[in-house]
Amino acid sequence: MTAAHKTAPNLDPAEAKKFDGLAASWWDPDGDSRPLHDINGPRVSWIEARAQLEGKAVVDVGCGGGILCESLAERGAEVTGIDMADKPLAIARQHAVERGLTIDYRKITAEELAAEAGAGFDVVCCLEMLEHVPAPEQTVVACAELCRPGGTLFFSTINRSPLSWATAIVGAEYVLGLLPRGTHRYDRLIRPEELTSACRKAGLEVLEVSGLAYNPFSRTVRIGGRPRINYLLHASKPS
Ligand code: SAH
Repeated sequence: MTAAHKTAPNLDPAEAKKFDGLAASWWDPDGDSRPLHDINGPRVSWIEARAQLEGKAVVDVGCGGGILCESLAERGAEVTGIDMADKPLAIARQHAVERGLTIDYRKITAEELAAEAGAGFDVVCCLEMLEHVPAPEQTVVACAELCRPGGTLFFSTINRSPLSWATAIVGAEYVLGLLPRGTHRYDRLIRPEELTSACRKAGLEVLEVSGLAYNPFSRTVRIGGRPRINYLLHASKPS
C-alpha cells in the first residue's frame, strides 16, 4: 500500500499478480487472452451501436493489455485506460506505440481516478473486470462518478450460476485449457440482478442487459438473449 492510499484500495493483490503473469502473451490471439480477442470485435460493434465514440472522452476501467482501448482509439475516441497490474499496462503502452495510437494508460483504481478527475468521461467501459475485485459494487459507484451526466456506461462480467461454473470455469479452465486455471473464482461471479441493482443504487439507468454467447470451437460470438453465462450491461447516467 502506498502512502497515497488512506484506505485499502478495492484491489485483490492476487488478481494483479495473476494478470501480471498473463501479460507477455496478452496480444497473442491464440494465447491465454484468446477469449478476449475473440469477443472483442463483437463487443466493440455492440458498444459503437450504442454510444458515439468519435472525439469522445472514454475511460476503460481494468484495461489490461489494451485490447478494448485500441479498438476505441481506432474509432476516434480519446481513451484513458486504467489498471492496477503493472505488466499488462507496460504491454499496453508498448503496443499502442507500435500501432501509432495515443492512449493514456495509468495505474490507478477507478475510485482514485473518480476522486481525482470527477465526472470527466463521456463513456465509461468496465469489461471483464468486476469479477476480479473484492467489492464490485464500489467499482460500479466509481464508474458512475467518472461518467458525465448524460453519458453512457458499459459493463460486462460473468453470471454466477451452475451453468457458468460448468462452462466458464470447469469447461474453459479445466477441460479445454482455454484460460489458465484459477482465472475466475466462482464466488466472485456476479448475477445480472446484482449488477443491475448496483447500477441503480449508483444512480444509473439500466437500458439493456444482453447475453454474450461465446463458442470456443468456432470462435464465434453472439450478443443477445438472456444473460446466462457472459453478459453485457448498457447504462446511462441521467442528465
Ligand atoms: N477489460 C479488459 C481486460 C480484462 S482482464 C478486456 O476486457 O479486454 C481484467 C483486468 O482487470 C486485468 O487487467 C486486471 O489487472 C484488472 N484489474 C483487476 N482488479 C483491478 C482493480 N481493482 N482496478 C483496476 N484494474 C483491475
